[in-house]
Order: sequence, then C-alpha cells, then structure tokens
Amino acid sequence: MTPAAKILYLVAGAALVGARLQAADRDFETFPKIDIHVHIYEDVPAFHEIMEEINIIKVLNVSVRAMTADVFEYRKVGARQLAHDHPGGFSWASTFPLWNINEPGYVGKTINVLDESFADGAIAVKVWKDVGLEVKNEHGDHIHFDDAKFDPIVEHIVANGRPVLGHLAEPIHAWRPLDEENPLHRYQLSNPQWHFYGKPEMPSYEKIIAARDARVARHPEMTFVAFHLGSMSHDVGMVDSRLAIYPNMHAGVAGRVKFLTRQSSEKVRAFFIKHQDRLMYGTDLTIETWGSRTVPVTPEENAEFKESLKKRYRDDWDYFVSEGDVDHDGFATQGLNLPTEVLEKFYYKNAQRIIPGL
Ligand SMILES: [Zn+2]
Repeated sequence: MTPAAKILYLVAGAALVGARLQAADRDFETFPKIDIHVHIYEDVPAFHEIMEEINIIKVLNVSVRAMTADVFEYRKVGARQLAHDHPGGFSWASTFPLWNINEPGYVGKTINVLDESFADGAIAVKVWKDVGLEVKNEHGDHIHFDDAKFDPIVEHIVANGRPVLGHLAEPIHAWRPLDEENPLHRYQLSNPQWHFYGKPEMPSYEKIIAARDARVARHPEMTFVAFHLGSMSHDVGMVDSRLAIYPNMHAGVAGRVKFLTRQSSEKVRAFFIKHQDRLMYGTDLTIETWGSRTVPVTPEENAEFKESLKKRYRDDWDYFVSEGDVDHDGFATQGLNLPTEVLEKFYYKNAQRIIPGL
C-alpha cells in the first residue's frame, strides 16, 4: 500500500468501505501475479520467499536454446524438476530440438521429444530467436519460422492443445547502430552476437517478423503468444496491427516494459485497454548456475537478490498501476493507471485462460 493509500485507509472509516477495498485491490504486495516468462533452473529458497511476499501465484519457466543437446537437457531437467517439486507454483514450457534439424528423421524425432515433454507436464512449447537468426539449412541459409519443415511440428503441438510461445527476432534496435538511448544498449554491448547492424549476411528484421506472421496465419487454431511484445515493443501500433489481424495471437511484455515507458503513456494505456484480453505479464528473470551465476549464496547476496528482484516487479507495477510521475528502472515516465479489471486480466486472468495449466 502506498503511504497515500494508507492514510486514506486510516481516515476513511466505515463510510468508505468501497474506497478501502479498491485501495487494497491495487496493493502491490497482495495483488495476485502470474509471471509467464522466467528462466529459473535452480530451486532457490529466496525466490519462494519472494513469491510469498508479493503474491506471485505461479511462474512459467520457458526453456530456451535448443541449438545443442546438452543445453536443452540442462534447462529441461531444471524446469521439469521445479514443476514436479512445486506443482502449485511452477509450470514449464518445453521447446523443440534444432541441433539436428538437417538430419534425416528430424520431424519424427522432434515429435517424440515433444511427446516426452508433454508426458512430463510441459504446458506449452517455446520457439526462440535462434529460429531466424542462427539455425541454418544444408545450403547454409537461415531457416525461418514459416519453413515447411516446421509444419508437422506445429500441427502436432496444436493437436496436443499446447500454446506456442514465440520469441522471434529482436527489438528493431538490434539492426540499428548502437545508441545509448536504446533501452537495450547495455545488453547489446555485452552480447554483440545479437547486434546485427553492419552484418549484411544476417536476415533483416522485417524478414523474421514476416515469417512469424506467416506461421501464425497458417494455423488459425494455434494459440500463439508473442513474447517480448512480438519484438515490436518500440511501437505499440505495430503490436496493435498484428493483434487486429490475428485473433489467435496474444502478447507478453517480458523484459520490454522499458520500451513502453519511452512511448506516450496515453497511447500505451489505450493499447492495454483495447487489448485487455490478449496481454500478459512476465519479467524474463533468470536464476541459474550454469553460464552466468545468478544464484545467491551468502546472506548478503540473498538480501540483495531479493531486494533487486522485488524492485523489478515493483517498478513494473508502479508503471502499470500509478497515476502521474513514476520512475521505471531509472527512467522518468507517466504511469498508466490501468483500471483494476484490466490489471486483473493482465496480471493473471488472461494467463490462466490462454495458457491452460497456469
Ligand atoms: Zn526470456
């Protein structure tokens, strides 16, 4: 509860029960949250404490990177284990192998891998940006998501009632010169492999987006969730146009709220109200020991870890809920002040409806 809300609560008395309820409804700590986009591969007690403290009722672990069998295995096992150990709080999405895409029998093997994952409780299937940006066919050309090779795989996923979660392409800034104003500036500095400016051999942004759209159009019965606002987070108008064309497309905001804060709050608010049944909350937080260690060990690390993670959820919350000036991760912007029923859909009700099992 904000200090202002607390004062209202204290002075309002019984005559203002309605206002009191409303203030409590929009309380950061108690408002139910589902995070549909996390990368958690370690069972960290501090994260369970955070879930309890700010009422995260469920997280969806989204497996990534199927370019090598060992990465796929490591992430699948971690996500699956968490879901088995904490079925109330953790769900997981599988992915399909890409390391063997040019080998004979690829489709049959992939379907077996998917069936295994479904039997192990995977509630969705993630396709990552290495489709379009990394994986190549036998001629050395990039394979895109509308490639016919994926047709039977996508059909199999749809037949099993699982949504497809797509992180395809990158924000358009990845194709532009490095720019400090770009919210992803730091990421691109430390991940030059995902910065394509001056690399004519890489597919264009437009090409990858068009391949994604073609795939969504080809399977009207597929539930498609465009992660990271479909890599169109720099312009909610672009997301709006896709949601208008494809009734089977939905969108998650994970890791891209920064791009929203740079646009007109009035425009973004209208977008959220118009598409209130199609948008879902997520953070893109990572907790793992392999690669970059993000698991706290000492009590100091534990406290710091909890503080920084809660701040991340809190900053997003303030942006979506507050009215007037807000600070989002150091950037001054205007809060969206979304109506409570829109917040409920965005923070958990849509996820429960669109991704069965959450
Ligand atoms: Zn992610």
